[in-house]
Amino acid sequence: MKAIAVIAGRQNSVHLTEVPKPSLDEVPDGRGVLVRVLRVGVDGTDREINAAEYGTAPRVCNAPEGCNFLVLGHESFGRVEAVGPKVHELKRGDYVVATVRRPGTSFYDAIGTPDMTTDDVYFERGINCLHGFLTEYYVDNADNIVQVPQRVASVGVLLEPLTVVEKGIAQAYEIQRRMRIWRPRRAAVIGAGTIGLLATLVLRLRGLQVTAFAKTVKPYRNAELIEEIGAQYLSSEQVSFQSAAAAHGPFDLIFEASGYSPLVFEAMQGLAKNGVLVLASVTGGNKTVEVPADRLNLGFVLGNKVMVGTVNAGREYFEMGVRDMSHAEASYAGWLGKLLTHPVKGLENWAELFEKLTSAKGAIKVFCEVASL
Ligand code: BGC
Ligand code: ZN
Repeated sequence: MKAIAVIAGRQNSVHLTEVPKPSLDEVPDGRGVLVRVLRVGVDGTDREINAAEYGTAPRVCNAPEGCNFLVLGHESFGRVEAVGPKVHELKRGDYVVATVRRPGTSFYDAIGTPDMTTDDVYFERGINCLHGFLTEYYVDNADNIVQVPQRVASVGVLLEPLTVVEKGIAQAYEIQRRMRIWRPRRAAVIGAGTIGLLATLVLRLRGLQVTAFAKTVKPYRNAELIEEIGAQYLSSEQVSFQSAAAAHGPFDLIFEASGYSPLVFEAMQGLAKNGVLVLASVTGGNKTVEVPADRLNLGFVLGNKVMVGTVNAGREYFEMGVRDMSHAEASYAGWLGKLLTHPVKGLENWAELFEKLTSAKGAIKVFCEVASL
């Protein structure tokens, strides 16, 4: 079967290849699920892997076959084709999304929370050491597969990016249990790409006033989408985060997803007392920046503030994401579907897929339509 892959350690090596169709008995204990891939989204991580910039993938890994290529794709959406004898929670025809990370060796992996691993190496399908979903079929353990109801199937390919947001926001609320009573009112989201848009959505669903902040000046499609769900959009070209925070903050919760690390230090200064700043940008570079260290530190100490990093998402956040997709459809019908801006039909159009990912103007979600829904 066809697959889109990169070669270990080689820049711009994305290509179409042939791999064997997986079989159910690759998973022990009768817990295998064979999934027909329908759609796969691509994002900055795929771009960075192809540029040999992020992580160690592609690399010669300790995958059983010891291959030197990596099948890409971690934002999956598919339909169950067959299940092993010990799978009772899924059946043929169900729409599903697979989680991305698989357990390593740390304590947190052992207790079923590999998204909190303390290992240095991640095992992530389509990213590191494990083949991904940009192919025709995959097999995985039912424990790693989450059902998506028919009513949100048309936007199911957005579930994986949504889970990254779900985890970050859930962790913020979890941390804020330290307050005994926490009544957040104002939130800011930095970045208006797919993750920024989805963070704005989830914070709106939680009832917060949201100010989204990104570079592009209006008129801007993403700004319109933000305003459609009752949030406000500000451009960093027109107002600094500091003055936005002075006018519309201070912010009880800030979700940073701009991909530009210097903004983290700006965000620290716009955070309300007792607030929580969630960092979600995976910044592979080496940027340095001078910061007002004493002031930042003092603000955090005297204001009892928290800053937390977040990456990946375990199964519970996929389940939260499914619920929020339904909630979003009920509250803002059709909004999620508007994020699916750039479909590319067929794995054989891998070049167009990557071309759109790197340079399509106005792209929010670029995704491959591997097979029809
Ligand atoms: C993926 C996450 C992953 C992270 C780090 C992101 O693009 O969506 O699942 O944990 O990259 O590799
Ligand atoms: Zn991703």
